Amino acid sequence: MNSAIIGGGYAGMAAAVELAGRGIPVTVFESARQLGGRARGLSYNDTQLDNGQHLLLGCYRDTLRLIEKVGGDSEADFLRIPLQLELHGEFSMKAPQLPAPLHLLAALAGARGLSVSDRLNAVRFMMKLRRINFRLPVDITATELLAQYNQGADLTIMLWEPLCIAALNTPVHKASAQVLLNVLRDALNRTRADSDMLLPRISLTALFPQRAADYVERHGGQVRIGCGANALHPREDGIEISTTQGSEIFSHVICAAPPNAAARLLRPISGLAQTAARIDRLEQQPIYTVYLQYPESVALPRPMLGLHRRYSQWLFDKGLIAGQHGLLAAVISAEGIHQELSQDHLAHKVIAELREEFAIAEQPKWVKVIAEKRATFCCAPNLQRPAHQTSLPQLLLAGDYIEGDYPATLEGAVKSGLECAAAILARPR
Ligand SMILES: Cc1cc2nc3c(=O)[nH]c(=O)nc-3n(C[C@H](O)[C@H](O)[C@H](O)COP(=O)(O)OP(=O)(O)OC[C@H]3O[C@@H](n4cnc5c(N)ncnc54)[C@H](O)[C@@H]3O)c2cc1C
Repeated sequence: MNSAIIGGGYAGMAAAVELAGRGIPVTVFESARQLGGRARGLSYNDTQLDNGQHLLLGCYRDTLRLIEKVGGDSEADFLRIPLQLELHGEFSMKAPQLPAPLHLLAALAGARGLSVSDRLNAVRFMMKLRRINFRLPVDITATELLAQYNQGADLTIMLWEPLCIAALNTPVHKASAQVLLNVLRDALNRTRADSDMLLPRISLTALFPQRAADYVERHGGQVRIGCGANALHPREDGIEISTTQGSEIFSHVICAAPPNAAARLLRPISGLAQTAARIDRLEQQPIYTVYLQYPESVALPRPMLGLHRRYSQWLFDKGLIAGQHGLLAAVISAEGIHQELSQDHLAHKVIAELREEFAIAEQPKWVKVIAEKRATFCCAPNLQRPAHQTSLPQLLLAGDYIEGDYPATLEGAVKSGLECAAAILARPR
């Protein structure tokens, strides 16, 4: 048995670590010059950035476990912030040191910026969700769910809408209520640490994919960077992968490329056109990150905070997070009017917002806008996501867009990689 993994993002590298660690020969093919895919580090003006600011949750158990397995250290790799949300000057809530879910109920009951009846409505909503085990009889949009549970306009705009966009990267009127509830169930309902917010202190490539590659190589596997799969050919004894460097046959292949690349590889294969068509039907949503390098003395009041009715939805202070003083990141998730602006114009809007909200009078030394136009799939209700297993027994699919409980997240990607690895390990060798 030998296995190939196409794509060195979080999904592919999770599968590779699991297989290599269990003694299966693994070869990873990555088309880009570096690992990480949609969660990768990059360097700009001698400064370490990522393709987008990422946030992990304490409930991302598989991701955090694998990071440790390949040599990471959660204490050093992340700034860990216990559950607290703030929309600057408008709304704030902070969970006290109580066991879950009391910490959340107390946070909601004590939230600032909401009326007493809104706060009670939010608490009742969470208690009702617990009673139904966070499971809806039929999936609906998040907007419909919030209306059904009497969550008023202020509550929606201040709390649920920002949470939904951050978690699902999908506007509330398009978002799956069930997937939102899956995230709330896992983040807010089990242990207090599950709702912690973890902000990486090192690049997203260094955090897991690079360490995973080192682990795979230490366990006898290969990671080929800048070596993309051009075509897949089913053969009697496995699947042949063609790359610019030649062709090889593997008994099992996990395709962990992003949706458009996966569909391109699957479409020509007999019997897989329907799977490719299902992938093609997934609508995509963007995420924009505006990095601004200010003088080192510039800082935000907190490592992470939201803005209300602004272009910048969430702001991150990389000085407070990772010691990169004066470096701020503004994140704008999901579709919206910001897409109509040029990158320069958007950067000017963000600079103006920082001046108006925090009296930052200095001009940034440089600004870098990173627009990931196909950041995640649009997490709509009742979405038909492709399964791990294709109609070819030797070919499996991994990635954040594959069927599962989670929206497109690092944890969703990692879980899908682990499922593919488990499916291969369960087969006779
Ligand atoms: C800007 C941004 C912000 C985000 N914020 C968060 C967040 O805060 N929290 C969170 O949990 N998630 C976040 N996400 C989502 C998260 O990054 C993704 O869900 C996750 O990285 C997807 O991993 P993946 O392995 O499924 O796919 P990818 O990361 O897309 O990896 C696929 C890999 O396959 C490679 N590839 C493509 N074609 C080929 C080929 N033919 N041959 C070989 N290799 C190929 C690609 O180069 C890539 O490296 C964010 C995403 C973006 C873009």
